[in-house]
Amino acid sequence: MEAFLESLGEPKFRAKQIFAWLYRGTESFEQMSNVPVSLREKLVESDVNLGIMKPIKVQCSKLDGTRKYLFELYDGNAIESVLMKYKYGNTICISSQAGCRMGCKFCASTIGGLRRNLTAGEMSEQLLAAERQSGEHINHIVVMGTGEPFDNYENLSAFIKIINDKAGRNLGMRNITVSTCGLAPAIEKFAYDFPQVNLAISLHAPDDKIRSSMMPVNKRYNIHELIGACRRYTDITSRRITFEYTLVRGVNDSLHHAEELCKLLKGLLCHVNLIPLNKVLETGFDTTARKDAERFLDFLESKGIPATIRREMGDDIDGACGQLRLSGKK
Ligand code: SAH
Repeated sequence: MEAFLESLGEPKFRAKQIFAWLYRGTESFEQMSNVPVSLREKLVESDVNLGIMKPIKVQCSKLDGTRKYLFELYDGNAIESVLMKYKYGNTICISSQAGCRMGCKFCASTIGGLRRNLTAGEMSEQLLAAERQSGEHINHIVVMGTGEPFDNYENLSAFIKIINDKAGRNLGMRNITVSTCGLAPAIEKFAYDFPQVNLAISLHAPDDKIRSSMMPVNKRYNIHELIGACRRYTDITSRRITFEYTLVRGVNDSLHHAEELCKLLKGLLCHVNLIPLNKVLETGFDTTARKDAERFLDFLESKGIPATIRREMGDDIDGACGQLRLSGKK
């Protein structure tokens, strides 16, 4: 921004003022009252845009007030984000890519493949646009929408730095969670780059045979490599990892699987988040019965592994985990 302002013949310090306005959610240059009118006019005439992400569809869950946004991007692709209300504040679940190329068999987000990476600006805008539309203040971000964040590492990392910047939005690193399907080398890099950001790993299976049948990424980085990277992550950061484990009926939800999972995670600083599979029509997988999910949970706890069953939100608007989709004209 500084370079851009200098190219307009303006002093660099204006960048900081404009940056602050952007992260207050300002949608027009006219509102930037501490910026001289002459500069505001120049900006209006330039090819930069504000408020690029207008929701083209907003759905509100009757069950829990969760809102799902469909945003059209400048190139015709469209992505989804979900705003969830919790007792302790509001969380936005954002997408990191338009589509996804990881190919997990139970997930709707990967069905049309990958269109492209989202820019850091498009990630921030999902939060700002949802705030503008809802009038709510958002204080947590989970990068758990469509896309594999570590497949777009550079833009993800620019986004985290920008949204955390004190001169802008100043959202705490600890209020951000990034979830990955297990790109092992990036996990270690993330430990050094962002030790304060929460990390979640989509594990979903206790052994390679089952994991590879659900998640093609396991053929690239198997469970041994993945858990190795996780152990190094906890050594470097001293922070607990959340393992997501989607329970699929008859695939990974028996007590035997729970036992194998305990062996795998033994001694690792972690928490297991069980997600009873959400229905995705195309996949043909079934969700675990509630009592089986509870039996799985009890077993993990009896072995001293902290675990919870994720409370699904926005199921009636296809806004729950794994239900977000790519759409758009392209
Ligand atoms: N690509 C990243 C970010 C997505 S996070 C990752 O894989 O972690 C979304 C979470 O929901 C992941 O844990 C994903 O595996 C899980 N998920 C996908 N499809 C699901 C479904 N149908 N039901 C429940 N969880 C699902």
